[in-house]
Amino acid sequence: MTAYRKAPEGVDPSKPNAARIYDYLLGGKDNYEADRFVAQRMLEIAPDTRMLAWFSRQFLIHAVTAAAEAGVTQFIDLGSGIPTSPAAHEVAHKINASARVVSVDYDPVVYAHANAMLGDMPLVTPIVADVRDPDDLIARLRMDELIDFDRPIAVLCVGVLHYIMDYEHPDRIMSRFREVMAPGSTLAFTHGSTDSNDQFINQSSNDTIGSTAQVQYRTRAEVAELFDGFEFDEPGIVPIQRWLGDKLPNTGLILLGGICRVR
Ligand code: SAM
Repeated sequence: MTAYRKAPEGVDPSKPNAARIYDYLLGGKDNYEADRFVAQRMLEIAPDTRMLAWFSRQFLIHAVTAAAEAGVTQFIDLGSGIPTSPAAHEVAHKINASARVVSVDYDPVVYAHANAMLGDMPLVTPIVADVRDPDDLIARLRMDELIDFDRPIAVLCVGVLHYIMDYEHPDRIMSRFREVMAPGSTLAFTHGSTDSNDQFINQSSNDTIGSTAQVQYRTRAEVAELFDGFEFDEPGIVPIQRWLGDKLPNTGLILLGGICRVR
């Protein structure tokens, strides 16, 4: 049995938290001093991290749009975070008003926000679940008839996998999803790269050590290994800016992004 680091147990304002750091970078108000401390130190080294957070949002919009336009009507947003507009369901519903979106996060604070904001929407379901236990998550999605795994789905894994350490086997997690994804399904991800600014990597690693906001940066080859058996769309695993246009600037923190599919 695998020993996971603990999932967040509610509000602990003294420890940096991934959802709240990201909220701060996106200009939100649902964050505490410990989160702002880490985020501000990130911004001191790489002020463009805030812009990168918005590129990441654009990448998510791109991935949802592409899947919805290809006829996918079921979305699983893994590590969905505190809802920020435009969220996955807003993008999907613009293309198909009957699309179903399940927002998955292990952070009860994220769930509280998501439930308050999305709880009344019949086709959007926020749930608390840990991506590191894919069997439990998939079983719940089946049992509650939230997702029909006989039909194509789009899995969003944006800004999440780098919170899963090697010893927690992110490759096995992705391969478990691949096994249950029907042909025509897609998976979009972003991942913190070891090519990021060295000072940024060292400092953010020290500032978050032992917390759930700790990031495992990976090389492009290591990221590719997480998606064994998937077929990659062009341009493959590249900084997310390359998915969005030719002229977007490079950033100190490099997020690699990819979209892959099950044939
Ligand atoms: N995907 C969203 C986006 O791109 O806007 C939010 C990204 S935020 C940086 C990362 C989110 O992943 C946080 O809300 C965090 O709670 C969640 N997360 C991290 N590890 C997780 C896990 N093992 N299971 C479920 N959620 C997780």
